Amino acid sequence: MFVYGWDGWMECYATAQRYAFAYALAAGMAASPQSGFAIAQVAANQATHMTYALTETFRSPQFRFHQFPVTSPLPHIVGGLNAAQPIVLQGYPSMLGLLAQEAAAGRLTIAPRLSIGIGEPLYPSTRERLSRAFPAAPVQNWWGCSETSGLAMSCGAGAGMHLSDDTLIVELVDEKGAPIAPGQTAAKIFVTNLFNRLTPLIRYELSDQPTLLDEPCPCGSAHRRVADLQGRHEENFAYGDDRGERIIVHPKVFTSVLFSEAGILDYQVWQTARGAEIDFLPGEAPGDAVDLSAVGERVVHALAALGVPSPEAVLRPRPELDRRHGGKLVRHVPLDHPTARRHIESS
Ligand SMILES: [Zn+2]
Repeated sequence: MFVYGWDGWMECYATAQRYAFAYALAAGMAASPQSGFAIAQVAANQATHMTYALTETFRSPQFRFHQFPVTSPLPHIVGGLNAAQPIVLQGYPSMLGLLAQEAAAGRLTIAPRLSIGIGEPLYPSTRERLSRAFPAAPVQNWWGCSETSGLAMSCGAGAGMHLSDDTLIVELVDEKGAPIAPGQTAAKIFVTNLFNRLTPLIRYELSDQPTLLDEPCPCGSAHRRVADLQGRHEENFAYGDDRGERIIVHPKVFTSVLFSEAGILDYQVWQTARGAEIDFLPGEAPGDAVDLSAVGERVVHALAALGVPSPEAVLRPRPELDRRHGGKLVRHVPLDHPTARRHIESS
């Protein structure tokens, strides 16, 4: 639970929405005669989540918000979206990727003019699926949390996302807390909040690891830019090598193999003592068959290249992935993660 004063709450909303309004203006977006200016969000539906609480506070006859819990059965979400006909579709990227597939299969029949990924890393493969399914909708990436509102958001003109340099002091630092240079990836960040006086935050540490970009953005904003996030270090897997040294495997090792497979819609990797068990959602298109042993071999090679001794990887197609962590998908589940135990008990 995080508390805002009213002024801070309004600023939180304005910060969250400012680039979305820029996209809307650039696209000449207008309210639809049938559904008005309908905005659909498929994410957590708990009032302690900022994105949920903001939409509840600022709903109006002009802005019609439709909230769909991400933990609902997919056919319910698809049916609700078909009825709502949103002009803006926002939600966790792991769900947006599924909705893109539902649209490609003809079950989801909406025509959004803007898609916004919130709450999870937005990977290039998800962007591509969304752009194919909803060609009239640019894809915005949004990075934030309930304590800070929008930390960074894409503007639509340049790559990556602009930091909220006017409402927050965001320090990108290395392991020891020293500032990193442009082009480098932070080990963590410190955030000082300049707009919520009810609950001040001073150098509040977050474990996200953004990469600082150097070039100016074509949009002209002087706010610094960071690249799209590629996972959090809580999702690193630690293995021991033959000499007892720790080997850290970053989530992008799995992402780069698994999201390059057209037949893998999304996935969840459970760390095992010597490798990984990979649950995946299979695609539905004719060319989507996944060669389980070939993909497993690619994962094994990637782990072996990092020094993991005699690694193993098993792939299993699944009808759905485990969303018990507040509805957000923990895509890479380390052995010591709170949800790892269930997996060991059930397998
Ligand atoms: Zn820009």
